[in-house]
Amino acid sequence: MSKSYLVRTYGCQMNEHDSERIAGLLEADGMTRAPDADSADVIVLNTCCIRENADNKLYGALGNLKALKEKNPDLQIAVSGCLAQKDRDLVRDRAGHVDVVFGTHNVHRAVELLNHAAEKGPIVEILEETVRGDAEAFPSALPTRREVDHGAWVTIQIGCDNNCAFCIVPAVRGPEISRPFGELVEEVGSLVEDGVSEITLLGQNVNSYGRDLALTRRDPSKGRDGDDAWWCGAQWAEDRRARPLFADLLREVGSIEGIHRVRFTSPHPKDMRSETFLAMAETPSACEHLHFPLQSGSDSVLAAMHRGYTAERFLAKLTDARSTIPGVAISTDIIVGFPGETDDDFERTLEVAAAAEFDSAFTFVFSPRPGTEAADMEERFVPHDVAVERYERLRLVIERSSRRANEARLGLVEEVTVEGPSKKDPSVLTGRTRRNTLVHFASEAPIKTGSYAEVRITHARVNHLLGELIGVTIAARHRTRIPVIAG
Ligand code: SF4
Repeated sequence: MSKSYLVRTYGCQMNEHDSERIAGLLEADGMTRAPDADSADVIVLNTCCIRENADNKLYGALGNLKALKEKNPDLQIAVSGCLAQKDRDLVRDRAGHVDVVFGTHNVHRAVELLNHAAEKGPIVEILEETVRGDAEAFPSALPTRREVDHGAWVTIQIGCDNNCAFCIVPAVRGPEISRPFGELVEEVGSLVEDGVSEITLLGQNVNSYGRDLALTRRDPSKGRDGDDAWWCGAQWAEDRRARPLFADLLREVGSIEGIHRVRFTSPHPKDMRSETFLAMAETPSACEHLHFPLQSGSDSVLAAMHRGYTAERFLAKLTDARSTIPGVAISTDIIVGFPGETDDDFERTLEVAAAAEFDSAFTFVFSPRPGTEAADMEERFVPHDVAVERYERLRLVIERSSRRANEARLGLVEEVTVEGPSKKDPSVLTGRTRRNTLVHFASEAPIKTGSYAEVRITHARVNHLLGELIGVTIAARHRTRIPVIAG
C-alpha cells in the first residue's frame, strides 16, 4: 500500500502554489492524496504569517493533531511556509509532536526531510535564502499537483526587495530573484501541452521582474553563457534596455498558442509602467483585470508604510491604465487603521477610493504582524472600535462602486471560464469573466470545468453577476484525472 498525504494551506496564492509543489513532490515519491486527516500518513501544514492570527491558527491546528499522533505514532506531521521560516525551533518547542519543520527556501527538500525524520527523528531545516542557480529551489521548477486542470500558476520571481512597514514577506521570503525568461516560456509551453489554457503569473512584485537578470546572465557559474535571449527574452537581446521588462514576458507567454487567458498578481503601484498597460491592451489573452493595491489614500500614511508613491501618483497610473486598456476592471487592497492614521488621513482614503471607482477591494483592519516595523509602533495604534467604524464607512464606498461596475455589465455577453457548480447552489454553474467577476448561470447539459462559454448578464449584485447561458465556445482540452486505487 502506498502512503497517503494531506497538505493544508494557510495564506496567499504564493503559499497555495507552494502547497501544489509539496503535493507534487509527495506524489512523485509514490504517495496518494488522503481524503482526510484521520487516514493520512503524512500531514503538512503550509503556513502563512501575513494573515491575522496565523500563530493561533497554526498552534490550534497542531493541538488538534496531537491526539491523532498519539493514536498513530507513525503519522508524520510537517510544518512549512512563512511561519515556519519565522518561528524555526519555536514550532517544535511549542508542539513537540511535529516531525519536520522546513522554510520557504527548501520546499524542494520536503521528501528528503520526511525520510530523514522517519529514520533519525525530528528535524528543523530553515535556509536563509534561495540559492540562485539552484533550479530546484524555485517552486515552479518542481513537480506539481495542480488544484485545477485548466489553470496554472507560474512563479516568475520569488522574494521582495521592498520594505512595506506592515509586511513580513521580505523577512521570510528573502530578496527578489527572477526566473530566466526562457525557462518561463518553456514552462508555459509544457503547461499548454498538459491542457492548461489559463495561467496566472505570480510574484510579490511582478513589475520588477527581470531587474536582476541582465546581471545574472553574465555570471558563468549560472550556465547558458551568452544565451541572452534565454536569460532576458528576445526583445531585450535586440534593444538592450537596462533590464528586461515584465511587459516583454507578458507579451511572450500571452502569445503562446493554446494560452487563452493570462492574469498576473501582484503588481506594486510604484513599479507599474505604461509598457505593462500597453502589453495588456495589445495581448489578446491578457485579461482586462488589474489588481492595484492602494493600501491608503493618505500621503503621510503611505510614507509611513514606505510604499513609494502618493495618492495623486496612484490615481494618475489608474487613469493611464483605464485609457490604455478598454474596459479594465480594477481591484485593490486597503488597510484601515494603520498606526498613526488620523481622521483626516482616513478621509483621504475615502476620497481616493471614491475617485478610483474600484470594481472590488480587499479591505482589512490593521493588525500587527510580529516581526514587522508596524508591529513596533504600539504607541500609535488606532483604537479598535475607531478602526472598525472606519472600515464600515469604507466598505460602503467600495460597495457603491462595485455595484455600479456590475450594473454596467447588464445585457452584455461575457465570456466566462466554467469553474464548476456554484458552492452555494450546486444546481447552477459558476464561471469567471475576463474582468475576474463571478457569474452564476443555469445549464441544462453538464459543461466540463475549464470550458469557455458565453453568458448574457441578466442581474447584477455587489459581488457577482447572474446570467443566462448562450453556448459553449471552447470545450475544455485537459484530460480528466482517473483516480488511481492503490492495492
Ligand atoms: S511589496 Fe510590500 S507588501 Fe508586497 S511583498 Fe513586498 S514588502 Fe510585502
